Amino acid sequence: MASSGVRNGGPRMSAKPDRQGAGATPKAAAGKQRLSSAAGAYRRTSSGPLPAAGVRASSDGVSSRVRVAVRLRPRNAEELAADADFGDCVELQPELKRLKLRKNNWELETYEFDEVLTEFSSQKRVYEVVAKPVVESVMEGYNGTVMAYGQTGTGKTFTLGRLGEEDTAARGIMVRAMEDILADISPETDSVSVSYLQLYMEMIQDLLDPVNDNIAIVEDPRTGDVSLPGATVVEVRDQKSFVDLLRVGEAHRVAANTKLNTESSRSHAILMVNVRRSVKGRSEMDVSISGENGHSSSMMGSLRPPIIRKSKLVVVDLAGSERIDKSGSEGHTLEEAKSINLSLSALGKCINALAENSPHVPVRDSKLTRLLKDSFGGTARTSLVVTIGPSPKHRGETTSTIMFGQRAMKVENMVKLKEEFDYKSLCRRLDIELDKLIAENERQRKYFDDEVERIRAEAQCHIAEAERECKITLENEKMKYHKEYLDSIKVLEEKWKTHQQPPKRQIKEAESTSSDVGEAHNLLQNEKMLRQSAEDEASDLKNQITHWKKLEATATAEVVKLRKMLDTEASQKEKLEEEIGVLRSQLLQMSMEADETRRTLDKGDGPGKIFPGLDSLASQTRSSQPREQSNGPKQPIAKLSEQVGLQKILSLLESEEPDVRVHAVKVVANLAAEEANQEKIVEAGGLTSLFVLLRSSEDETIRRVAAGAIANLAMNETNQDLIMAQGGVTLLSMTASDAEDPQTLRMIAGAIANLCGNDKLQTRLRGEGGIKALLGMVRCGHPDVLAQVARGIANFAKCESRAATQGNKVGKSLLIDDGALPWIVKNANNEAAPIRRHIELALCHLAQHEVNLKDIIRGGVIALSAGNQVYLPLIYPVFAC
Ligand code: ADP
Ligand code: MG
Repeated sequence: MASSGVRNGGPRMSAKPDRQGAGATPKAAAGKQRLSSAAGAYRRTSSGPLPAAGVRASSDGVSSRVRVAVRLRPRNAEELAADADFGDCVELQPELKRLKLRKNNWELETYEFDEVLTEFSSQKRVYEVVAKPVVESVMEGYNGTVMAYGQTGTGKTFTLGRLGEEDTAARGIMVRAMEDILADISPETDSVSVSYLQLYMEMIQDLLDPVNDNIAIVEDPRTGDVSLPGATVVEVRDQKSFVDLLRVGEAHRVAANTKLNTESSRSHAILMVNVRRSVKGRSEMDVSISGENGHSSSMMGSLRPPIIRKSKLVVVDLAGSERIDKSGSEGHTLEEAKSINLSLSALGKCINALAENSPHVPVRDSKLTRLLKDSFGGTARTSLVVTIGPSPKHRGETTSTIMFGQRAMKVENMVKLKEEFDYKSLCRRLDIELDKLIAENERQRKYFDDEVERIRAEAQCHIAEAERECKITLENEKMKYHKEYLDSIKVLEEKWKTHQQPPKRQIKEAESTSSDVGEAHNLLQNEKMLRQSAEDEASDLKNQITHWKKLEATATAEVVKLRKMLDTEASQKEKLEEEIGVLRSQLLQMSMEADETRRTLDKGDGPGKIFPGLDSLASQTRSSQPREQSNGPKQPIAKLSEQVGLQKILSLLESEEPDVRVHAVKVVANLAAEEANQEKIVEAGGLTSLFVLLRSSEDETIRRVAAGAIANLAMNETNQDLIMAQGGVTLLSMTASDAEDPQTLRMIAGAIANLCGNDKLQTRLRGEGGIKALLGMVRCGHPDVLAQVARGIANFAKCESRAATQGNKVGKSLLIDDGALPWIVKNANNEAAPIRRHIELALCHLAQHEVNLKDIIRGGVIALSAGNQVYLPLIYPVFAC
């Protein structure tokens, strides 16, 4: 190892571009690098090329080596005194950026750095070569780190943290960096905030809020970026407030007294400066992007989120790098010493690994290395200043510091623009825009509404005015014409009068003056005009008349229509009335016919009329007509029933008008005389209606005819059952006991007589007083009544006899039981043939059964037989008995 050999962390080839980039701004460096790249002479280890402004960095970034400067502290008082006889252990060649380390009296080791800062270097120069490029880079949107490494008391804090309040020339990197940052930002669009922390014993403490003494490091799982969300962040607006913050932080900083320096620190101090900048001009550029049809679309521009750059400057004032035993700290635990060394040794290991391109970098070994993840081997532009003292007493520490710096020079970072879309601000902007548009829209709408309202009001005024004027003009015109009209009438009248004067006088007058002619001419003109206006008026009136005529025509059509409807309704009503009239007259006619017929029958109730016993109108009508006509046109009653309907006829039975009720019951009675109708009448409820009439009516005719109708219906066997079921016998018996009219009694007797002919009803009929009612009716003595009574007894006897013969009846006849025998005997020789015939029949049936014989004999029937041939058959069984 030659004493003149130059030792360096990287190949010597890298020295030139590194030197070029060291003091240059990233832009300048970028330009230079582009040239260099074109020449193909250098590897990409310099600060450039940085991406041009406005161009998004590629995802993998741009290579940038960690830049390292070495700074030598001047001899302090102690050293001046103690080492007066010895030379410095280092020798600097700043112009060559070289440092020679005296190993012993005869051996020198040369090292090359990016910058070599002598003991006479001003704070300004140190800032410019070490930190300024990084600060500028941060202002362009890249992360940056400035870090001081060195033995305690070599000037790390002097370099970084001097506030320079008494002497501005003494201001350190932190203060100067902030001055540059604040000078460069736009307060309207950009912002700067800081956090100030201390890493001590592997605990992160907040120097702006010491209570916050164990802040967690949070790692973004997606990007791997680390952050300290628990740290206090203070926005910085001016230099003074920043210096105040540093002072506060410094006051909180854990300082440890060591033998080496009373102000040296055992903690790592970390200042984080967050810069947030809007990229000016980018959105305007985007606005001009052409739309589909080639026109620039302002909409697209307004929807494009603005671009912001969020970069971070980290300034790290490391704890002293000396070995703990040498620092001779008293009262410090081994734990503390270990912790201090842990972070530093981990940093050293990481830098070694990075320098050697080792696949594994033990970033996670300490909090310091985790926090500096982006600074070494990350995306930040990093500048390291290693501080050394001149004293040969600390040669070992100085050597290790130099070696650390040399290794750090080999570390390559991939700087990356921290640019992103600012969706939040776009959202805010759009919200504001929307608010503005809504307000504008409302303002315009209100303006339009007001305007419409104003125009409407104006128009209404105009219309009202015009209408008023029009009315006045019309009125004036009318009056004028009226006056002219009257005047012209007057003139004409005068003229007429003049014309009426004798011709002589006229001639005389005509001859009198020629002025008269002129006057007449004028009058004529006037008259013409009047005539014209009169014609106009007439035409007006004509128009009006036409209009009214049209209206009249419409009204007339309406009237005609209504009249037609009225006529139709009237004719319908008339028809209905006619129908009712016809029905009434038919009913009347029918009832008259019925009365007539009955009267005829009453006069000549001929013999041989055993069945039906009730003389129905129908049968009479039938009998009064020639036989050959029976198959001809229908009977009037049947026809009527067909026309009107049975139901309607039956409903008339309940009519309020007694007249109608009488006619109706007569028609029903006549219909009931026809066997074909009987069933229909009963089905339609006619039987029940007839019973109601019989029970409730006071009118004898109604009672008579109703009873007749019931008698007719009682001819049918089914109806007989129904009559019995509805209590018909009791009702008939009651009516029979009340009635005086022989014809009514005849009808009732006929009805009961019909029921007597039903074999099944014998016992019930007798039980309900049917036989007694029959016998009771003989009190009236009218032959018609007696004939029906006799028929009933004969019918009853016939049925009894049949039952006895069939063995269904034993014992004496019920007729005998009910006391019929004396009347039978009494009337056996009645002169009226129908009576006599029925009685003979009854006696015959009674005498056929032995049980009756005794009573018959006792009743004197034998005596009858002497003078009557008919009784002969009777006598034989009697005698046999
Ligand atoms: P460190 O932080 O590395 O422990 P300091 O910055 O506290 O060291 O410096 C130790 C002492 O040396 C301080 O008194 C400081 O003023 C002084 N000092 C350090 N560097 C220089 C320098 N370049 N010029 C003058 N004085 C310096
Ligand atoms: Mg210090």
